[in-house]
Amino acid sequence: MRPPAFVAPIALFGLLGLTPVQAETLLPPPPPPELRIHFIDVGQGAATLVELPCGAMLIDTGGEENNSFHSVPSLLAYLEAFFARRTDLNRVLDVLLLTHPHIDHVRGATAVLQGFTVRSLVEGGREALQTDAVVVMAGVHDFLRAHPEVEHTVVRLRDFPAPDAALRTPGLDPFLQCDGVDPSVQALWGALDGDPGWGENDYGGAHFDNDNNHSVVTRVDFGAASLLVTGDLEEIAIKELVRTRGPLLDVDIYQVGHHGSHNGTTTDLLAAMTPQWAVMEVGPSTRKHSWTAWAYGHPREKLLAMLESGVTGPRTEALRPVGIAMKSFVDTPIDHAIYATGWDGSVVLVADAEGRIRVGTADPVPAPPRLPE
Ligand SMILES: [Zn+2]
Repeated sequence: MRPPAFVAPIALFGLLGLTPVQAETLLPPPPPPELRIHFIDVGQGAATLVELPCGAMLIDTGGEENNSFHSVPSLLAYLEAFFARRTDLNRVLDVLLLTHPHIDHVRGATAVLQGFTVRSLVEGGREALQTDAVVVMAGVHDFLRAHPEVEHTVVRLRDFPAPDAALRTPGLDPFLQCDGVDPSVQALWGALDGDPGWGENDYGGAHFDNDNNHSVVTRVDFGAASLLVTGDLEEIAIKELVRTRGPLLDVDIYQVGHHGSHNGTTTDLLAAMTPQWAVMEVGPSTRKHSWTAWAYGHPREKLLAMLESGVTGPRTEALRPVGIAMKSFVDTPIDHAIYATGWDGSVVLVADAEGRIRVGTADPVPAPPRLPE
């Protein structure tokens, strides 16, 4: 049945003596379908909302928790504001992807599962080791057992169809036609079963034992626009990612790996991506607590130098705080299209299917109550 909304204008055009074809030419064209990527400010951590005309996907549920900032209420407030605008989505997240079980990526996972309708949960399947992440992931798996209607997909590298291929699975990409565009979500990396001979890091730990190197890496395509999210993948795994899947890495938007650490991006990765835009999900340098961007010195000077030469888009030059060591920052001129939640708050990039990308407006979140320093 034709919805009543169509009747009124057609009846009105009839009164004006216009045929339906003449009337159609007077109506404004529908807005073009757009992909909106929300890099949500969760402090030191990660949470990325991929908004499509026909649905939504949340990648990670970070992040920071201390006396100055609580990421879970911040994330929930952002999602509430988002769904208040997109009432058509009925509070449904088609996909919740947890790149790896570190607390700065999973802290809000059970709260999101309980507060919204998640249709599909995707993870690497590694067992959490950090005490607080163990608790969260146990809650996630309890929730999945109690809600068998939620699809559960584990992305392991051994399940990829070939060593140089992407993994496509309905759990990760349930999106079909979206206003005439078929979005694509593919995994380009996942959890490994055995150590490829990666050796030890500078602290004597095995690179293989670091969950960062098992991050589920995803590529999202919407027409000609594309996004790459590498989680916290570090140099040794990035090298293998570029060697095996280099041609699949060419994207427009790079969610900068590992919160702007020096070890989450390489020049080879940037050369494979040729990104126009880069966005870092990192806390501000002003919150002086443990496990913060201030404590880590994120984003790092070495990384910014790489991004300034590897990111092709421009940004009006401004001085931004860049880490030169732990707890030490220098204001540094940035004039490429590099954004950071710690500099800019939540960042939204809007892309149409032709690949035109612009900065959008974050959904308005009520100011949180002031917290004691
Ligand atoms: Zn992280």
